[in-house]
Amino acid sequence: MMAPMRPVIIAANWKMHTTPEDAGELAATIAARSGEPGVVRVVCPPFVCLAAVREALAGTGIAVGAQNLHHEIAGPFTGEVSAPMLAGLATWVILGHSERRRDAAETDALIGRKLGRAVEAGLRPILCVGEQLTEREAGRAEAVVSAQVTGCLGDHDPDALTAAGLVVAYEPVWAIGTGRNARGADAAAMAGLIRRTAAGLGWGDSAERLPVLYGGSVTAVNIGEFLAEPSIDGALVGGASLKPDEMAGIVGRAAVTARARLAAGGS
Ligand code: PEP
Repeated sequence: MMAPMRPVIIAANWKMHTTPEDAGELAATIAARSGEPGVVRVVCPPFVCLAAVREALAGTGIAVGAQNLHHEIAGPFTGEVSAPMLAGLATWVILGHSERRRDAAETDALIGRKLGRAVEAGLRPILCVGEQLTEREAGRAEAVVSAQVTGCLGDHDPDALTAAGLVVAYEPVWAIGTGRNARGADAAAMAGLIRRTAAGLGWGDSAERLPVLYGGSVTAVNIGEFLAEPSIDGALVGGASLKPDEMAGIVGRAAVTARARLAAGGS
């Protein structure tokens, strides 16, 4: 059987940076420097910058994503944003980022509910999973990541998640914003584990089509180590995604992998 050809994806997580005044210009600069149509590119600014970034990226082929959404559709949830509210503003959404697990006490069960809302609203989810340093040092990294995948995906119909274009980002918590990144081989092993876990949840062969990204202090210098791994399909980029030079380098390297995959074929 021919190996499935998965897309190469670079998603930018701007976290709590930029304002509606400057976000559009930054997005336009990144778009001008990262014009690689063979790479799926996504920019995820803060909620208040979505409209400006969407306008700036119109016609560039770069998609816009949100960084979170609420698990209910509407109601007395002051300060929250629901999936239907993102219509016309975003087509992707990051869910379960470790900073939200840490600061908003998000659990796998809650993230699973958010996943359902994203799918209902036609948003393409990027589900983040990853272990803490203490868990890795205790030899529990695989068990933790597998449990997160099961806890978030377990209640969902695999076909619905496949149709929604679910992407999983393996982001070891100790590598996020620390300048310390995982080794490519370790990330590749986790990508394999994530797909095997999905297969065990009823995904079957579709698990091989599930895109898995690496995230954690990715830069233009180290992206090559991850994209050299056939099981890794791109990156979720935080700090470096605010720098047009870094994004140009990261997307440029991703384009090399995208072209190689195209040349190799696949089903
Ligand atoms: C992230 O925000 O998902 C992330 C990986 O951040 P950084 O690239 O800054 O480590």
